[in-house]
Amino acid sequence: MPKQGKIKNGNNKAKHTKLLNQKKNKIREAKALNKQRLKTLITKSNLYKQDCSCGSGKLYEDCCVIAHKNIMLISTAEQLMRSRYTAYVLGDIEYLMKSHHSSTCPIKEKNEILKWTKSVKWLKLEVLNTTKGGVSDMEGSVEFKAYFEENGVAEVIHENSKFNRENNHWVYLEEL
Ligand SMILES: [Zn+2]
Repeated sequence: MPKQGKIKNGNNKAKHTKLLNQKKNKIREAKALNKQRLKTLITKSNLYKQDCSCGSGKLYEDCCVIAHKNIMLISTAEQLMRSRYTAYVLGDIEYLMKSHHSSTCPIKEKNEILKWTKSVKWLKLEVLNTTKGGVSDMEGSVEFKAYFEENGVAEVIHENSKFNRENNHWVYLEEL
């Protein structure tokens, strides 16, 4: 009889250890998940509180993030242009596609563009000139200089871009 009791105790002990380990694993998983979530939140809030990359002098949370969250909220061609620059900086390829006119959108080069924009170091944006592109306009242009560093070499894109509207919001059409 005492023998049986020992076995029973042993079984119970094994069961108990198994349950304890399961519990430990669950806690470990929950901790890891929480850590990940906090990391994302901190990364995001840091970005929100930083000066917007487009050089507007506003914080990202008061500037291009509005466009990145909802493109319909952009009222001028210049705002769209700025939000596209910031999307290049952030590697937000979906936004770059969405803010491009469908007739000229480089959808096939999507992955290459993403790879390229992640490989360069974006330095700053200068808006030099704008024509039309206002709240009640249907088209407009923005001349800009976008500075970046590629493989340690300073580069600049100087472009006069044409913008118009598609699906009731501003989009980039082409280089003039
Ligand atoms: Zn901005």
